[in-house]
Amino acid sequence: MKLENFPDEIRPFIIPNHQGNLVYRCLGCGTEHSIDNLLYTCPDCGKVLLIHDLNFDLLKNIPGNKWRSIFDYRKMLKTPALKGIYLYHEFIGPIIPLSSIIYLGEGHTPVIEANSILQEKVGMKFFFKNDGQNPSASFKDRGMASALSYINFLVKDNRLSDILAICASTGDTSASAALYAAYLQPHIKSAVLLPHKKVTPQQLSQPLGSGASVFEIPGVFDDCMKIVESLSEKYNVALLNSKNAWRILGQESYSYEIAQNFEYDMRNKIIVIPIGNAGNITAVLNGFIKFYETGIIDVLPKIIGVQSKHANPVYNYYSEPDDQKRRFIPVNVKPSVAQAAMIGDPVSMPRVIHLVKTYNRLAGKESTSFIEVTEQEIMDWQIIANRNGHIACTHGGECLAGLFVAIKNNIVSKTDTAILDSTAHALKFSGFQDMYFDNKFPSEYDILPDKTLVNFPVLIHPDDLDKVPTHGKPLDKIDFEIFIKRISDEIADILDLKER
Ligand SMILES: *Cc1c(COP(=O)(O)O)cnc(C)c1O
Ligand SMILES: [Zn+2]
Repeated sequence: MKLENFPDEIRPFIIPNHQGNLVYRCLGCGTEHSIDNLLYTCPDCGKVLLIHDLNFDLLKNIPGNKWRSIFDYRKMLKTPALKGIYLYHEFIGPIIPLSSIIYLGEGHTPVIEANSILQEKVGMKFFFKNDGQNPSASFKDRGMASALSYINFLVKDNRLSDILAICASTGDTSASAALYAAYLQPHIKSAVLLPHKKVTPQQLSQPLGSGASVFEIPGVFDDCMKIVESLSEKYNVALLNSKNAWRILGQESYSYEIAQNFEYDMRNKIIVIPIGNAGNITAVLNGFIKFYETGIIDVLPKIIGVQSKHANPVYNYYSEPDDQKRRFIPVNVKPSVAQAAMIGDPVSMPRVIHLVKTYNRLAGKESTSFIEVTEQEIMDWQIIANRNGHIACTHGGECLAGLFVAIKNNIVSKTDTAILDSTAHALKFSGFQDMYFDNKFPSEYDILPDKTLVNFPVLIHPDDLDKVPTHGKPLDKIDFEIFIKRISDEIADILDLKER
């Protein structure tokens, strides 16, 4: 819709004009640092940062119902910069001019209700939000659009030039970083560090295809993370892991979209998120807090974080009920099909600890829970979901497995509505589906296939059929007719088709 056609009371707000004043705020010592330099940790105490808008309270001058109208109307605008995560510009990056925003189609991913068979099996109403339908097929694009838009702004403003963007990755961060950096070349180049053999072939192909420098490192993600941290301390590179607070800011869009999708009614809503490096759950918590503080939503939804038993440091931390006694202990991860979340020492843990406290205080009750699930449960539920019309990745399966446990343990009520994050596209992790169907999981995973879920292709080549078409050698008419008939008969026989 053209600007002049918006209602008079909305038109002045359609193009964002909030004057943000963003600073990095340290979660350790509370010091605020200017965003003029790219910082990843506090120069004073070394702890992680979050970006805070010193003018945030100005947003409260607009009532919640007005904000809701602004966002709903803004969806009709065709301006590329405001079509993705920056629909919520005032909350995500108010200092970034629209001309610096990169939009590659991220955000506003579909929210798909499970069919009645699946809802009945699980025991409650629920939806998947398919973040695998982002441009690089995972939610990481939300954070990358934010981090790279900010870097692009600094470049355009001549405050940065010739950037090497670098990240460690369990596969999806690098796919996303490489994609956005490729769009911004030649000013920005990317280099990614991957744990050798611990990302899927599809994930490896993505940064290669985007032209990034790809390094495979012996060890697991946590080892790669230590290397990029060391590189970013010593050399002039831009770190694109979620340690970079700009990533968190962009990923908050996930919460805003859920609020908008459900008409801003968050009563009896349950948000289920898989946890790896804990950047995603940090963003989701912070996003809902910001919408709550500005009156855009009037209830905070319940947040459930799910981890595999093979990579469960956040679950372990919260399994101690007495918050005075809680102590964070990194774990050594074991192989997990939720491979993008196979992280033993999450960088965002201090952010989670900080935000969970704030969240529960604002909610006036315990509104966060943490659950662990087995590898078997993750695989079974992923495949069950997909057999009911979803495109859930293993982490989507992890969320569904977690929801099932949450119902059993009375953490959620059957009258609630859950929204599950399928963080990537199923196709990225099809190798795990193959292992399940072939019953070829290495023993460390502890996964055996449920026979009723296994599926194989059937090669139809009857013994008595010696002439079949091959490449460049079509059959003659008679042989071709025989071929068509024999093959169709065979298929009809297997499927037990009735003649009409
Ligand atoms: C990165 C990732 C996760 C984990 O998210 P964190 O922010 O690291 O907790 C989960 N699923 C997928 C598909 C991912 O790419
Ligand atoms: Zn500090």
